Amino acid sequence: MDLDLAPEDAVFRDKLRAWLKQNLPQAARRRSVSEGEAPGARLAAMKAWQRKLHAAGYVAMGWPREYGGQGATLMQQTLLSEELVRHKAPGLVGMMGLQMVGPTLIHWGTEAQKRRYLPPILTADELWCQGYSEPGSGSDLASLKTSALREGDHFVVNGQKIWTSNAQIADWMFCLVRTDKAAPKHAGISYLLIDMKTPGIMIRPLLQMTKDAGFNEVFFDNVRVPVENVVGGLGQGWAVANTTLLHERNMLGSTTQTQNIFEALLRVARTTLRDGRPATEHPVVRQRLAALKIQVEAMRLNAYRNLTATLQGKKPGIEASITKLVTCELNHQLAATALDLLGPYGTLYRGSKHLRDDGFWPYELMFSLGLIIGGGTAQIQKNIIAQRGLGLPRFK
Ligand SMILES: Cc1cc2nc3c(=O)[nH]c(=O)nc-3n(C[C@H](O)[C@H](O)[C@H](O)COP(=O)(O)OP(=O)(O)OC[C@H]3O[C@@H](n4cnc5c(N)ncnc54)[C@H](O)[C@@H]3O)c2cc1C
Repeated sequence: MDLDLAPEDAVFRDKLRAWLKQNLPQAARRRSVSEGEAPGARLAAMKAWQRKLHAAGYVAMGWPREYGGQGATLMQQTLLSEELVRHKAPGLVGMMGLQMVGPTLIHWGTEAQKRRYLPPILTADELWCQGYSEPGSGSDLASLKTSALREGDHFVVNGQKIWTSNAQIADWMFCLVRTDKAAPKHAGISYLLIDMKTPGIMIRPLLQMTKDAGFNEVFFDNVRVPVENVVGGLGQGWAVANTTLLHERNMLGSTTQTQNIFEALLRVARTTLRDGRPATEHPVVRQRLAALKIQVEAMRLNAYRNLTATLQGKKPGIEASITKLVTCELNHQLAATALDLLGPYGTLYRGSKHLRDDGFWPYELMFSLGLIIGGGTAQIQKNIIAQRGLGLPRFK
């Protein structure tokens, strides 16, 4: 493992840092969870930020040039995502397009699909949502029931999706549907691109414990979708969906984000009193912080080890599952520790003038729980690590 940057990568990083210093929106430097911002204005600001990044060449840098990317090296992509997190840049509103359906289309899509769907993903002109989970099909995704029956040159879609993040703002959904009820479970599934404005789609928001309504139920009642919107061929949906899932896991676990949260926790510990002294001088707190720091550091080095392996051309294995599993659980523990240190102040939420760090800690405690479940639960990641990584037998 070589932790030194090549000269051209150091130049790339320095240029990026200078750009971020000049262009990062001031209000976005922190992860604000304050009330009072109109959702429309927030969405417009997030789209504007993605367009600014795109104009500077910093969106989807790894995509091939013919589809609007830069054909950037893996090292440059890694530096970009690290620097964005380090500078507390706002997340990209088009993330599901950029990180999930975009790479999937590059791999599986027809040329016409790539030309049609990729450009507006880059510019945030079209936002996407993921229609996988159903009320009875989460971890056991292949049991999904939403059906798409062929009628001439259209499919007619009927059924229900649930936990659909961002459906309320999405223009399109990449959706798993059952196109052949007689085929074995996995073989009857297709991957369909659905225009969210099509008649027959109803979206119902679900309120989360953070008080946000970021995900939804989506109902399909005789929704007509052109047959050319199938990706990867009829009945190939399971393989296509797994390409997307791998990218999703990569998206959900960020070791740099976890390092940021640990640094913020340290600031809380240094400025909070325990038995009349800074909490960082209290032996029990010190033990707890040290144990967390060891995990954070192990994940940082693990990320570099994975990067080195990929740069050396080794095939990806279970790394994304490990990173997703550990960082999501670690973020939750970091938030729980901060709340313990803050005592009664930690329980304050939106609207209070006594909020610490703009209410980040209670928000993170609740939000991080969702990420432990979304994109494949912690238990499912453990199954993957056990079976594909350690070669253990399948649990029956
Ligand atoms: C914040 C968030 C955002 C989401 N966004 C989306 C989205 O945009 N689109 C979308 O399609 N879905 C989305 N989801 C849904 C998510 O993918 C599912 O919640 C997840 O796959 C788990 O499915 P489930 O909720 O049906 O739980 P279940 O699968 O019913 O699991 C219940 C419990 O049983 C455990 N379990 C199940 N099977 C096994 C097994 N084989 N071995 C061991 N333990 C097992 C699970 O780990 C869990 O603890 C989101 C979820 C969250 C929390």
